[in-house]
Formats: sequence, C-alpha cells, structure tokens
Amino acid sequence: MAKVPHILIIYTGGTIGMVKDYKTDVLQAFNFDNIYKKIPELKLLNCTIDSYAFPKPIDSSNMNPIHWKEIATIIQSNYHNADGFVVLHGSDTMSYTASAISFMFENLAKPIIFTGSQLPIGDLRTDAKENMITAIEIAATQKDNKPIIAEVCIYFEYKLYRANRTSKISSEQFEAFDSPNYPDLAESGVRLKFNIPYLVSVNKPEKLIYRKIQNHNIILLKLFPGINKNVIQHIFNMPNIDGIIIETFGSGNAPTDKWFLDILKKALKKGIPIIDITQCVAGSVCLGRYETSIELLKMGLINGYDITTEAAITKLMYLLSAKKTNGDLKTLFETPLRGEITPN
Ligand code: ASP
Repeated sequence: MAKVPHILIIYTGGTIGMVKDYKTDVLQAFNFDNIYKKIPELKLLNCTIDSYAFPKPIDSSNMNPIHWKEIATIIQSNYHNADGFVVLHGSDTMSYTASAISFMFENLAKPIIFTGSQLPIGDLRTDAKENMITAIEIAATQKDNKPIIAEVCIYFEYKLYRANRTSKISSEQFEAFDSPNYPDLAESGVRLKFNIPYLVSVNKPEKLIYRKIQNHNIILLKLFPGINKNVIQHIFNMPNIDGIIIETFGSGNAPTDKWFLDILKKALKKGIPIIDITQCVAGSVCLGRYETSIELLKMGLINGYDITTEAAITKLMYLLSAKKTNGDLKTLFETPLRGEITPN
C-alpha cells in the first residue's frame, strides 16, 4: 500500500493568519496553532501534516532576503522527510518570495506551493480555507509514488501557477494573481485538473542544490516619458550597485537621447550588468525590432524577454550572489533556469 504523503506547512504571516482587532479595526498576525481551530477540515486530508511557524509572523511587505533564506533553510532541512511543502505567505510580495525560492533550489523534485488569502481566515467570506486546503491537496498529489508537481508554485483562487511567472494583479479580487506569459499549471474545479505538458518533469531526481541569495545591491528603474536626466544620472552613479534592471516600453524600447545612452554605456563599461525588461504586463522584449532598441542591443544590454519584474529581480540577485559577472551573467540570465523565461 502506498505511503500517505507527508506535508510540511510553513507559516510566515500575511492575511491568511490574521485576525481583526475589533477595537482598532487593524489586522494583526495571530498564533498559528489557531489554524487548526479555524480549519478543522485539515484533519480530514489524506496526508499527514507538520507545521513550522515563523516565531514572529510578518506582513509580507516586511519580507526580505533574510526571510527567504529562513524559508529555504526550513525546506532544505526537511527535504528528505517531507513529500511536499506549503508556504503560507502574504499575497503582497508572494511572487517575489516564491520566485526567489525557485532560483535558490536547483534539481527540485518535490512541490513547494505558496498560498495566502485576500480575507482573514476568521472572516465569514474568507478565501483562506479553499486556498489552503487545495494547496495541501496539490502538494500531496502523487502518481506512482512520485509527486506530480516538482517546482515552486502559487495556488490562489482555483488556479495553480508557476511561481516565477506570476505577479499580483489585484488587491481587491479573490483572483489576485496572474501568469500572463505561461499557462496555468492546474485548475481546481470538481476535480483537480493538471496541465501536464506544462509541468516541470523529473525523470531521475538528482541531489538538491541550495544556494542562498545574499547580494541585493540592485536597482529597478521604471522609465516614463519625460524622465529626468539628473535623476537617471544620480541613480546610475550610486556607489555599490551591482546590477540594474530597466523596465522599458513595449518590446524593450527606450529614448534614443544621446545623454541617456551615454549613461548606460558608462555603467556597462564599469561592469554593471543592465537588464532590459518590458513594463507591459504580457509579451516579450525583442531588442532590435524598433529603432528605439537597436542601440541597447548593440551596447550589450541583457535581454529579459518575457520575464516578470519579480523574477527578474530575484534572478539577478541570485546570479550576483553566485558571483556571476559580465558574459556569464548575460548568458545565464537569458537562459531559462527554472522555466521563468522564454527566449525568442
Ligand atoms: N498585507 C498582506 C501581506 O501581504 C496582504 C495579504 O496577505 O494578502 O502580508
């Protein structure tokens, strides 16, 4: 008889574990032990569950690479005794954390499912119950004793997404996430329907490699028409910057003013990698398609293709932490490492 899967829940904070202080009307994190009181159905799932809670649960706006390391270290130290992981996390920065974790683990062969909710667990209309129960079910789903999912995902409002393809798109709707450049990995209806051709498949599991993200000396610059020369100059001249991501227009286009291109060239000459990603929600950078990106292509900007901002930021931190520079960093950034990018 097949062994019942064992799932580790990691509770970091966020709305899913919050209660309202009715005197002040403010949402505050509550003790994780109460989760079982709030969702007794958890005991009915066909898996065994263990849990770990951050000693001090946090709103995800306070998440940073130190917390990413805390989550990853717990996963790594339980990797052999758990069959899958569910990370309860605030939705605000969930796409960043989940993308970061996807890069930190190479050769992942088990599911790591992030979920959260838009309404607190105690709320009558809460989405927390469904999100959490289905996330656990997905983490526990196996075929021939092997997990169906072997990657880092986000489950939210009936859909499973590849985490490093997601962005939070609504602070209001229950459908808070989207994956505009990659198909959903599963949908939860009457049955759980997996989109098998789009899942990472593991034929022969290799040893899990865990690399920490330690370098976050990067900048994200969003262009807008009329952006001030002094501001850009100031940003590019800041000390101790190891990488810059520019959110450009459309398919990777930017102003052709000489002063703008000169600032970029000077940074590249200093060995600072510059990545071109699009501020469009969907679609890809295509350097050289328009005159407004030919110079960027010629000077050697890194092509971010269809990567999300969240994945670009965490991938750049990951590559810089691994001490990748110049050519190596460009090649690796433009190559899918965890299914996060589609070079065209
Ligand atoms: N502010 C909350 C957080 O991200 C919102 C949520 O959980 O959805 O922690």
